[in-house]
Amino acid sequence: MSLEDLYRSVILDHYRSARNKGTIENPDFHAIGDNPACGDQLEVFISFSKDGTVGDVKWNGEGCAICCASSSIMTESVKEKSKQQIFELCEKVKRLIKGEPLDPSEKDDLGELVVLEGVSKFPVRVKCATLPWVSIEIALQGKKEASTE
Ligand code: ZN
Repeated sequence: MSLEDLYRSVILDHYRSARNKGTIENPDFHAIGDNPACGDQLEVFISFSKDGTVGDVKWNGEGCAICCASSSIMTESVKEKSKQQIFELCEKVKRLIKGEPLDPSEKDDLGELVVLEGVSKFPVRVKCATLPWVSIEIALQGKKEASTE
């Protein structure tokens, strides 16, 4: 399977059966993300466990297939990670989505997330795919609103 086919099948799978969609009452962190270029709007909710890693994470909102799939993938990727690990992950994923070069070791760290590199071939969708990652960063920084603009 080519990377492009894999990209399509992963995006479709997460779009059709989104993981971790919903809300968390009294989350430790929460932010609203907005991508006016496409009309994507989402919320992220994060709760930490006592050991300082993500115990629960949810996303909710409306967006295009790429944004929804990327949100679903994002929530699966941050579970049981520390805040610092999430910031590092977001930084790499954002570069990957934009088509910026990553070292082989950085790609190893990303594992299955490397399929998101497929988005870089569709510049109009880059902001859609980036939105959930920007939103969780903003939430963990204690801010309330993220925008791709
Ligand atoms: Zn979109």
